[in-house]
Amino acid sequence: MTSEAKFHPTAEQLGGFARGTLTAGMDVVISAHVELCADCRSRIGSLEAEAAAEMLQAVPETRPVNKDFSSMIDSIVNHAQTQADEQTSDPVTEIHMLEHSVRLPKVLAKVASEGLVWKKLAGGINQASVTLDDQTQCEFLYMKPGSQVPVHKHQGSEVTLVLDGSFSDESGHYKQSDFVVRTANDMHQPASEEGCLCFAVLDSPLTFTKGLARLLNPLIRYRFRRATAAASH
Ligand SMILES: [Zn+2]
Repeated sequence: MTSEAKFHPTAEQLGGFARGTLTAGMDVVISAHVELCADCRSRIGSLEAEAAAEMLQAVPETRPVNKDFSSMIDSIVNHAQTQADEQTSDPVTEIHMLEHSVRLPKVLAKVASEGLVWKKLAGGINQASVTLDDQTQCEFLYMKPGSQVPVHKHQGSEVTLVLDGSFSDESGHYKQSDFVVRTANDMHQPASEEGCLCFAVLDSPLTFTKGLARLLNPLIRYRFRRATAAASH
């Protein structure tokens, strides 16, 4: 099922994955890519060894964070597993598309086993949202052959893992197992000639908690105060 990926998570994302400091949504999409990508599997192996060595040196600070995180992941996985057990003895392992079915990476099979509700969006796009944490928006996206997403710009970052088929935008052509990272203010218009199934994770567009985006916060607060002051006059 795997084809060699050309696009991979950033070093920062893989480092966060190895340390267990990512949101559950980001953890799931990277885990799915790592299952499909031998390169990233070996990089994760050495990053996890480094992270483990660091943790041993700084147990008091890192232990609570990692414990919370792993228990959160455990509860998601257990929850998915329990529901799958209740519903049927066969958990979801595939998503059926127009003319064929797509085998899912294990972690996404667990997510899909919770039940997917597909919604039709404009332009031949179908979307099934899933909730993995309160900081990301996660969704399976199916683009019909010949479909196009309207041009859009992100306030947060967006990560897209191609599960089947391919899509293109101004920056490239993405195929199965490619991990496409779009950061804040990137403008793009994805289109798919042959059709495409993806799993996408968006940082919440309303909160800026990390990196450069945080610099925008004072400006947003200023504009908000100005707007509310104007309204009260
Ligand atoms: Zn990779």
